[in-house]
Amino acid sequence: MSKTYDYLIVGAGLFGAVCARQLTDAGKKVLVIDRRGHVAGNVYTEKTEGIHVHVYGAHFFHTNLPDVWTYVNRFATFNRFTNSPVANYHGELYSLPFNMYTFNRMWGVVTPEEAREKIEQQKRDAGITSPRNLEEQAISLVGTDIYEKLIKGYTEKQWGRKCTELPAFIIRRLPVRFTFDNNYFNALFQGIPMGGYTRMVERMLEGIEVRLGEDYLKDRAALDALADTVIYTGPIDAYFGHCLGHLAYRSVRFETEVLDTPNFQGNAAVNYTDAETPYTRIIEHKWFEFGKDDEGRDLPRTVISREYSSEWKPGDEPYYPVNDGENGALYARYRELADKEAHVVFGGRLGEYKYYDMDQVIHSALETSARLLKI
Ligand code: UDP
Repeated sequence: MSKTYDYLIVGAGLFGAVCARQLTDAGKKVLVIDRRGHVAGNVYTEKTEGIHVHVYGAHFFHTNLPDVWTYVNRFATFNRFTNSPVANYHGELYSLPFNMYTFNRMWGVVTPEEAREKIEQQKRDAGITSPRNLEEQAISLVGTDIYEKLIKGYTEKQWGRKCTELPAFIIRRLPVRFTFDNNYFNALFQGIPMGGYTRMVERMLEGIEVRLGEDYLKDRAALDALADTVIYTGPIDAYFGHCLGHLAYRSVRFETEVLDTPNFQGNAAVNYTDAETPYTRIIEHKWFEFGKDDEGRDLPRTVISREYSSEWKPGDEPYYPVNDGENGALYARYRELADKEAHVVFGGRLGEYKYYDMDQVIHSALETSARLLKI
């Protein structure tokens, strides 16, 4: 007997919404469920004081993939926001990502050649030839001073682990430039969807049945009976009842406040890179919306979020997979179990336990749905 739906999609975040759109457009019958009371997963935005607040942390859309850029532009108009975070180290302000402004402020160097020499010398002094962990990678990219002031404290707060115990690739996400360019991303395309991410995801899901407040893991048998194939975007270890143990995740707690001032910090993101400040960064949400009066006077108040990073424990929201050796090995064992679940596709940051950016999630969802449609 054929089932009611071709696909049950568990999770209405970006991976789920893109799959839902693609499969529906190809004539498949799709049901999307989410345990939360809203769509859009962690890119969910909510309007407060006329400002789109990134409720589950700041999301900066950037991509080098033209097909992904064309795709998202079907569902939203993107503004021309460019992410240029500022690092605050005990009141000293530095430009990010690491570029000529940062090098000048740190060492007084003026030319790219002087900056390179300074970094080379610090790398030599540290005796690093082939970096084996995040600390060595960071020093070999930007030298010891920048590592100590702008990387070490932030990274150890963010990941709750020593930089010597973290994989080098995490820091290679950030560009190092010998030009005066504060654009955080090396991306051809960048911006924030006008009207908020929630609106964008709602448009992806237009005409598709979505049930909110439905927890797949609590009601699995009944939900499985509804569809031939399940696309599961939750944590892979939770799917298997943590039978091999818990994968580590980092969680984030947000302390969000409405302030009676139009301009708190003059920028969307200020990173607190010292070890002593308990939060990693402060986001001032109004500055995502490019085109606001630069003193914010058109909105008399502002909304800020302090981000506190912590090790995930049951009951918390998982945000970041911890891609170290131990968790990589555990994930590989869950992956073997997943390969045996013929009717289930695992996708997204939590389903694949991968430190994906939004564009990579969308790319992966487009590929996954194309593959499913060929079967
Ligand atoms: N990082 C840092 N100092 C900063 C910003 C980032 O040391 O001021 C390091 C940190 O280890 C972080 C990594 O760079 O985990 C990647 O940063 P990214 O901004 O890509 O992290 P995300 O946006 O995913 O939180």
